[in-house]
Amino acid sequence: MMKRRLLTPGPTMLPDAVYRAMGTPFPHHRTEEFRAAMRGVLALLREFHQTSWPIVPLTASGTGALETAVINLVSPGESAVVVRGGKFGERWGEICEAWGIRYTPVDVEWGKSVDPAVVEAAFGRTPGARALFATHSETSTGALHDVEALASIAGKHGVLFVVDAITSILVHDLPVERWNIDVVVSGSQKAFMVPPGMAFLSVSPRALEAARRSTSPRYYFHLAKAVDALAKDDTPWTTAISLVLGLAESLALVKKEGGVEASVRRHARAAGAVRAAMEALGLTLFAERPSNALTACYAPAGIETGALVKKLDMDFGVRFAGGQGHVKGKIFRFGHMGYFDDLDLLGTVHALERTLEAMGHPVARGAGLRAMQDALWQGPER
Ligand SMILES: *Cc1c(COP(=O)(O)O)cnc(C)c1O
Repeated sequence: MMKRRLLTPGPTMLPDAVYRAMGTPFPHHRTEEFRAAMRGVLALLREFHQTSWPIVPLTASGTGALETAVINLVSPGESAVVVRGGKFGERWGEICEAWGIRYTPVDVEWGKSVDPAVVEAAFGRTPGARALFATHSETSTGALHDVEALASIAGKHGVLFVVDAITSILVHDLPVERWNIDVVVSGSQKAFMVPPGMAFLSVSPRALEAARRSTSPRYYFHLAKAVDALAKDDTPWTTAISLVLGLAESLALVKKEGGVEASVRRHARAAGAVRAAMEALGLTLFAERPSNALTACYAPAGIETGALVKKLDMDFGVRFAGGQGHVKGKIFRFGHMGYFDDLDLLGTVHALERTLEAMGHPVARGAGLRAMQDALWQGPER
């Protein structure tokens, strides 16, 4: 008998209350009962994004929200600067390309964090740039990027600043309004603890103006239409009713835990303990400045991480993610986001030690566990 544990960087595990909320007959979406639930969810989302600006709930995976941001803020033929430090940074560029938006890429070696001076220089080569697109926690590499520094560069050049924060909201401090980030994108299946299917965009007044001006052809992904509907606690189209009801439960749990601050502290504590365990096992971390949402590690020589991921799942029901792009097979990614506890982390390290040994990489049995336990014991309380 085995429990299933999703320790991937999304989708993540869900609290029981979320399953229950999504499993009951739901109200129609154009009713006061549902509008009240949506109002509550959006109020908590604004609190967790640390902003009073509107937050648009979108029925789409995270990528739908990335595309929404691009086409509503920048029109075909205009230009932008894109930070590409991994798969998700590259996605900003791919969306621009699909829509005929010219962009100057700032390429960052995978695992490294962007140097703000290089972004600054890119603006020198991009006259008339409209926007800067970046990723806060780059989930393909596990690297965290300094969006506060990027925000001040965007401000200096008077361009819109758009951040993919899909694995950083509730995981890292991201004061959207104080740092003046025009659009921040988040997604349902990461630290929000609901299934995939919804994404969210916080929209600054400047971003809303740009959305009204954009000449990109749009129909479903129309940001201004969505913001206008919010005034009536509504969405332009049928929303993912069951996910909203799930979110009402999961966000209430975050609030009860102590809100953003407690959530960020919990993720930092877990990430510190996971990194200590990996290092004690002799593994090398992939990211120079690691995100607290996941830990990316090189596998020991001779171990292909696709096989490692499969074996962990088969033998222990623990699911990691492998590497993407050119680090496929070379790194594995251990997600620690949303609904997990100390026992999930400790059990996972036990499973990893046994799997590495079974795959021919001798480990000092218990070394990872011991380091993790020490870190959890000494670290700040949950
Ligand atoms: C998960 C994730 C996304 C969203 O991808 P979808 O599969 O479209 O939901 C986007 N950016 C980052 C950084 C992510 O971690």
